[in-house]
Amino acid sequence: MVRRALRLYRLEGRLELLPHGLWADGYPRLWLPPVPGDAVAREPWFWAVDGRGERHPLAWPGGTPWGDGQTVFRALAQRGWAGPRPFISRLPLHPHRLPPAARHLVRQVLLAASRLPPNGSCSFPRWPIEPSWEVWKAVLACCSLPVPSFRWPEAERYGLCLSHDVDTAAGQCNVLALARIEEDLGLRSAWFLAPGNYRIDRGLWGEMTARGHEVAAHGLRHDFKLPYLSPRRMAARLDRCCELLAEFGAAGFRSPAFLRTPPLVEAVAARFVYDSSVPDTLRLHGPDGTGCVFPWRLGPLVEVPVTLPYDGELLALGLDARACFALWCRKAAWIRQVGGLVHLLTHPDPRFTADRSQRELYRRTLAAILEADGPLWHGLPVEAARVAASQQAGRWQTGEPASGASSSHEALVNRATDETISLTGAGCST
Ligand SMILES: [Zn+2]
Repeated sequence: MVRRALRLYRLEGRLELLPHGLWADGYPRLWLPPVPGDAVAREPWFWAVDGRGERHPLAWPGGTPWGDGQTVFRALAQRGWAGPRPFISRLPLHPHRLPPAARHLVRQVLLAASRLPPNGSCSFPRWPIEPSWEVWKAVLACCSLPVPSFRWPEAERYGLCLSHDVDTAAGQCNVLALARIEEDLGLRSAWFLAPGNYRIDRGLWGEMTARGHEVAAHGLRHDFKLPYLSPRRMAARLDRCCELLAEFGAAGFRSPAFLRTPPLVEAVAARFVYDSSVPDTLRLHGPDGTGCVFPWRLGPLVEVPVTLPYDGELLALGLDARACFALWCRKAAWIRQVGGLVHLLTHPDPRFTADRSQRELYRRTLAAILEADGPLWHGLPVEAARVAASQQAGRWQTGEPASGASSSHEALVNRATDETISLTGAGCST
């Protein structure tokens, strides 16, 4: 698989036609595959300006330099197939043999090594918001070109999913405290278990599924080696994991630390309904993710991306509760604006969302998301995957012609709300 290069371009042209605030950081920039310099038949409505200040025609009514909009989406989605391989995956000892404080230190070092800036960077995907998918969709819609289409059930405006990775036995002991917070707010979540890392409490998980929660798979041993094993050993681990979780109907998978390779994606596709190992943007081991905040197709799988910075990432950055709350609310508001999926991952393990103050932060954040404007669809990740799977793969809608000043902000936001991404993996092998 050859990954297409991406370049960061400044967007120029009829920006007044695009939803206000779409680029999140105040600058109309987006990542694109290199823009061909071909002559165009019509006057462009949008230009891509490269780092040297040269302007490339980007989109005009009925056309782009690539002929259709899919080229850009495929290039962005390619980042879902693999992420950076961290040093920790090469360690001979199991990381959970280290005490929690030492593991916390390792996370801090990894984040420092990735030079995580507070508000984005010059690499793809920017953090904590990568708006290229949404900017490109808005550009296509303005130019009456097809955009990928997705509808939330009951015509809801955006989605909310919650999930937890239960990495350790100590984390399993804290599950009910987090579940009660969700249930008091009328919410349920998915719990990704590593059943080879600790003895799973079958009574607990039977009760949790009876209460409406979902049990899913988080690999077998959580030693960060799964994506890099031989096909035979990878299959053996996944099969054992499925066997241990079979009574709970586990349909979803998330790789520890979001680590993945193309062979792992294919092995997961043979055993699970959906995957949740591809964040929209993550910096733990260096820039990682696709920038996509909707359920989408990763080859034969439905991908249900984690779209809010997860608890371990923010804690390793040293953010206090007030800063975490502000960041989560800011990102959720942006996702709500574009009609995407707010998906928050937290851990019940020590040093994550286990103690009282962190649980209170979690409760406040969920309450704030629920209080925000707009009809909200809430479901389990497996239900979000079913929503995506029930819609035709590659369903595209033609954007209505934008007519100058008459294309109001609200109309464009509503149009963006009506659609999301559903790509086949066919274009990912170029
Ligand atoms: Zn984990």
